[in-house]
Amino acid sequence: MPLNYDPDIFGEEHEMFRRTVRRFFEAEADPYVEQWDRDENMPRSFWLKAGEAGILGIGVPDAFGGPGGDFLHRVVMTQEMGYSISGASIGPAVQRDQMCEQLMDFGTEDQKCRFLPKMVKGECLLAFTVTEPDSGSDLAAIRTTAVRDGDDYVINGAKTYISGIADADLFMIACKTDPAAGSRGISIFLAERNTPGLNIGRVLHKMGCHASNNGELHFDNLRVPAANLFGPLNGGFKVLAKSLNRDRLMWGIISHAAATRAFDLTVDFVKNRKGFGQTIFDFQNTQFKLADLKADLDVGQAYIDRCLRTYLRTGEVDMQEATVAKLWLPEMEGRVLDQCVQLHGGAGYMDEYPVSRLFTAGRLHRIFAGTAEIMRMQIGRAL
Ligand SMILES: Cc1cc2nc3c(=O)[nH]c(=O)nc-3n(C[C@H](O)[C@H](O)[C@H](O)COP(=O)(O)OP(=O)(O)OC[C@H]3O[C@@H](n4cnc5c(N)ncnc54)[C@H](O)[C@@H]3O)c2cc1C
Repeated sequence: MPLNYDPDIFGEEHEMFRRTVRRFFEAEADPYVEQWDRDENMPRSFWLKAGEAGILGIGVPDAFGGPGGDFLHRVVMTQEMGYSISGASIGPAVQRDQMCEQLMDFGTEDQKCRFLPKMVKGECLLAFTVTEPDSGSDLAAIRTTAVRDGDDYVINGAKTYISGIADADLFMIACKTDPAAGSRGISIFLAERNTPGLNIGRVLHKMGCHASNNGELHFDNLRVPAANLFGPLNGGFKVLAKSLNRDRLMWGIISHAAATRAFDLTVDFVKNRKGFGQTIFDFQNTQFKLADLKADLDVGQAYIDRCLRTYLRTGEVDMQEATVAKLWLPEMEGRVLDQCVQLHGGAGYMDEYPVSRLFTAGRLHRIFAGTAEIMRMQIGRAL
């Protein structure tokens, strides 16, 4: 049962784009992903090909060299990447492309002209750096500072777990510009990779998503021009909040798409695998388990469709709906993936079977882009 979204939500142009994106991942990522997992990185040629195929920089208009497109094109890209065989490994790396939307929303004309044309071609990859060794969920507790000095800001501090440190060309850095003001004292700055003072630290080895690299950064008197302030001074929290809502919904969609892929792979597997004179599928236990998973997936899809309809009606991702999506869909994914691994037997624990990689990638979805506990806290507070 490939993704069974409500077709009325999408137009013909979105479905054409879906076919392009699906073909692209099948041809340019799926065959290579095991090697990329071993390399713990993806080659630049992948990004350049993605740029050529017109699937990077969704929403960036022609004036900046972009392919245009709307929110539903972003949803299609997210669904197809999540459903692809390679999605489990490359998800966090590919989702960085969403930062084009932040640049469109908050960048100055100069910043858009400097970076967007390169981003849509895959020549400029971004890293979004908020998390620090002593603060993750508690965004307001970051300690990295940016202090004005003449026409520059001087940045000192450290970040960790950052996606894309090995290949990012441009870093968006959340800093305190008014340390006494808590979340109202955060600003975001742009810094290019080879700027003196921007030091790349250790690459961190992970449980899954190996092709998407992660690691540490240190800022030692990193000097950036004041023109690199991204969004309003002390208004960084608003920039983060807007991107967090979209991000939460997108990671809910990826969780659902990945769980759907695992389900499809498992149905194929159990129909072919034999034991005790019949297929594993023939056992009533298997069919009952699969029925429960299908029910979970169908209910999850209905909720995603509701979130998308809200967007189409209002032009905004609803914060509360996105938070529920980011809580429920990754937890549902966890239930589905656990059963899919079980139904594969030993094969489910072997990385050469995609379900194994989907399982370790899926564990991440309850942790980053806001943990399940933070989602519960925010849903509870609004009651
Ligand atoms: C693969 C990967 C990629 C990442 N990529 C990036 C990136 O590109 N950029 C970036 O900035 N960050 C990135 N992160 C960091 C990620 O966003 C954080 O790990 C996440 O927000 C959780 O923060 P933490 O690890 O500090 O956990 P903590 O905040 O220390 O939480 C530890 C535990 O305590 C719970 N907890 C915390 N506060 C509360 C509370 N108020 N009530 C109840 N429970 C609570 C949490 O839910 C969690 O279970 C990435 C992380 C991973 C694993």
